[in-house]
Amino acid sequence: MKHNSQAETGDLIVCRDVSLGYEGQSVLQHLDLRVQSGDYLCVVGDNGSGKSTLLRGLLGLLPPQSGEIWRAAELERGAVGYLPQQTRAQRDFPATVLEVALSGCLNRKGLRFFYSPKEKTEALQNLGKLGVLELKDQSYRDLSGGQQQRVLLARALCAASRLLILDEPITGLDPAAAQDLYKTLAYLNRQEGMAVIMVTHDLRPALQSAGMVLHIGRRGNFFGTPAEYLASPYGRRFKEAE
Ligand code: ADP
Repeated sequence: MKHNSQAETGDLIVCRDVSLGYEGQSVLQHLDLRVQSGDYLCVVGDNGSGKSTLLRGLLGLLPPQSGEIWRAAELERGAVGYLPQQTRAQRDFPATVLEVALSGCLNRKGLRFFYSPKEKTEALQNLGKLGVLELKDQSYRDLSGGQQQRVLLARALCAASRLLILDEPITGLDPAAAQDLYKTLAYLNRQEGMAVIMVTHDLRPALQSAGMVLHIGRRGNFFGTPAEYLASPYGRRFKEAE
């Protein structure tokens, strides 16, 4: 990761004219983006437009084909929690709720075989924060979709001190569980100062809680506030579809 002399205090991630893709094929081009401490960014766009690809780039898993992705040094030390898209196999994961949450500490574990008491306390605290502490000894696979997402969020919090990155977190949840999850994210963002980057199809709640919106599309990218987004050609299309 290069150092960027133009990064400002509070910046967590800065993308400048970034292209991302696979095997010489570009998926995303000319992307400019700035995420600062405590920001809440929603990433929207059609299926296949490159939202998950962008998250891989922001996580440092996919190097840019051109341009620059600057990440604050603290992010390299594991201050990021990632909630990937859920697959069916993951929903059947055979472990207790506490074990799943604790596995968020794996990054820090190095070569130790056991979790420290501090890590266990933290996992329990995060389960409590997300209202699923009483489920700690239950099998993860027996939980409802909404409960599982809360446990995975607790797991991501064990890894995260500054930034949560979520890929379609409400997929498969009923509207009430989705609403709950959005409330929790808004709480973590506002009360705990956790920066959030979330990919979602669900535009309306996204526009309510997000401070910034990034729309990725074949005809270009848009990055601005929800109000600016709604006034833009992309956002106008969304309003007309209402
Ligand atoms: P979105 O998250 O917006 O649905 P993705 O980032 O998953 O979009 O995919 C964007 C494009 O990149 C798609 O055309 C997809 O086929 C392609 N793609 C995704 N992952 C890979 C990969 N590992 N190798 C090659 N192409 C990929």
